[in-house]
Amino acid sequence: MTTRPPVFISAPIAALVEGIYREDTTIGTLKAHGDLGLGTFNDLDGEMVLLDGVVYRLRPDGDATIIGDEVETPFACVTFFTGDAEERFDKPVAAEDFERRLADLLPSRNLVYSLRIDGRFAHVRARSVPKQVNYRPLAEIAAIQTVFEFEDVEGTMVGFYTPSFLESVHVPGFHLHFLTADRKRGGHVLSAATSDVVVRQQHAPKVELGLPITLDFLTMEKTRDIAADIETVER
Ligand code: ZN
Repeated sequence: MTTRPPVFISAPIAALVEGIYREDTTIGTLKAHGDLGLGTFNDLDGEMVLLDGVVYRLRPDGDATIIGDEVETPFACVTFFTGDAEERFDKPVAAEDFERRLADLLPSRNLVYSLRIDGRFAHVRARSVPKQVNYRPLAEIAAIQTVFEFEDVEGTMVGFYTPSFLESVHVPGFHLHFLTADRKRGGHVLSAATSDVVVRQQHAPKVELGLPITLDFLTMEKTRDIAADIETVER
């Protein structure tokens, strides 16, 4: 069996939950660790999609722009993606069934998987966030996020499945970001229903976790309930 590349996570999501929105990992560094992934940017300045080696910033209105290698991120998760297995959902899948159908494709709930889903979506509910001040707890951001809807749209979702025992490292369960086929719009996926899509997934034999050497990270104290805060802001 071919050895798959690890999943690289630039910093534990616990730091983002505590409101640490500035780290020194560059987009250039991310690209050395993968060609597919997601995350955010310093000061929580939009949602990130890494697709086919290109990094996009999704602004609060959902508009996408390509971002250069010098920009920095406080949190991102990436991998080199080819896909172990592929399955077509050629019949419509309702929003309430979507995550269960994805979960059915995963051989075990105790591995990390990367996912790429291409095709036509009946509905995508997505969000992005306006730029933030450092140290504002992530749970408060849910109140000021912008939510937008796509109807009958072609595009690509990229993301990950993370086991619950890694909740301090990445959002447990599915975490997906969406980009339209014309690469012009997208966001963090809140819910989705599909018309006809191909789902590709790849398991990771290893997780590489960055531990930033920055004053914020070195002096961080855990004050938040990570599971509760992530539930508030990521779902
Ligand atoms: Zn996200």
